[in-house]
Amino acid sequence: MTSKVPIVLVDIDGTLADNDARFAHYFPDDALTHDWSDSHWTDYDKACFGDAPIPYVVEIVNTLALSYEIQLITGRHDVAEPETTLWLEAMAVDYDGLSMRAPGDYSRNPVFKRAIAEMFLAEGREIHLVIDDHPGVIAELGELGIDGLHVQRPSSWNHRHRSHG
Ligand SMILES: [Mg+2]
Repeated sequence: MTSKVPIVLVDIDGTLADNDARFAHYFPDDALTHDWSDSHWTDYDKACFGDAPIPYVVEIVNTLALSYEIQLITGRHDVAEPETTLWLEAMAVDYDGLSMRAPGDYSRNPVFKRAIAEMFLAEGREIHLVIDDHPGVIAELGELGIDGLHVQRPSSWNHRHRSHG
């Protein structure tokens, strides 16, 4: 029996942060080949400070923070933790914890996020909701009995490239 409040899991890129311009810059649609190297991903992750917020999601999360523990889970690698925490502070996002990928971890987002969710559940915590722009994450955590709130913007990379599941 824990006295802790339930957790809401929240994604960052495409959910709290509008990363479309950053993604298009580093991974342009018209490129014949993309640079998928670690250093290119690091540059992409660390450029996050230029992202605009998605204001209504920030507002939803800050409202939920009044009664839930907000755990941010991002597919960004932890090399970008300083830039990420500065951005969250600049955008006045109210959160309790931040989980990022370890170096060299390129597991699929649903797999990475399920592992984090299972870690909280193993600690006896309740997770009431996940907010994410990736439908695969919503589906994967749904298998753990977690409700989902899907952020869908027609302009987003996720919508254009992942709408087929
Ligand atoms: Mg996302």
